[in-house]
Amino acid sequence: MMANVRKPMVAGNWKMNGSLALLKSFTDSLESSSTIDTVLCLPAPYLTAASKGDFALGAQDCSQFESGAHTGDISVSMLKELGVEYIIIGHSERRQDHAESNIVVAEKVQTVINAGLIPILCVGEPLEVREANQQNEFVLEQLQAVQTICGNEFIDNCVIAYEPIWAIGTGKTASPEQAQEVHKFIRTELLKWNSNAANTQLLYGGSVNASNAEALFANEDIDGGLIGGASLKLEDFAAICKAAG
Ligand code: PEP
Repeated sequence: MMANVRKPMVAGNWKMNGSLALLKSFTDSLESSSTIDTVLCLPAPYLTAASKGDFALGAQDCSQFESGAHTGDISVSMLKELGVEYIIIGHSERRQDHAESNIVVAEKVQTVINAGLIPILCVGEPLEVREANQQNEFVLEQLQAVQTICGNEFIDNCVIAYEPIWAIGTGKTASPEQAQEVHKFIRTELLKWNSNAANTQLLYGGSVNASNAEALFANEDIDGGLIGGASLKLEDFAAICKAAG
């Protein structure tokens, strides 16, 4: 087994928010620490304007296809040309708004890995699944769909974000214990497939803010966060990065 080299990561997901002016404040003022990976997953039109920032560039989605007649879609090679290193895949908002199935999500993961970029694969259960205490089974099924299409090797080049849907944008964060429990389950399952899962960065996402980040990130299997709303406020995002470092 490889040595454990997990570095904390904080990835901001601006979703369909922000402006060039907000981006300028981030590129001018956000200072990253070398002890963590700082990523900003921006709306695609802003990616070219972000190249001078002190953070790695992330996108929020890409096509599962390499090129072709797919109007409105964006290919991984186009994102790579802009300096993108990470791409969020399978965010619950894409699974819901664009009916992305587990299979499409798995195909996208493979496309990103083939291009040499890193997917931030999102998994997580809706409220009714949590209420039935079936979150582990639900998340495992999402991961198994990726394993079936990509093989165990996907774990070598993938960040995984556990994002319970009931916690996204609701202000209802999972408790550190609830989050750690699922993260530990995910790591244990991934380790059965690939021993390099010891090095996989597992992020928690769902209403992380400057006040709750430290308690979440203090857990053994929580290696940082995928941050939505709070990534739109420079001071809050910087404080969350500090909590991870
Ligand atoms: C997200 O967009 O992935 C997210 C976790 O959003 P929020 O932090 O706003 O809940």
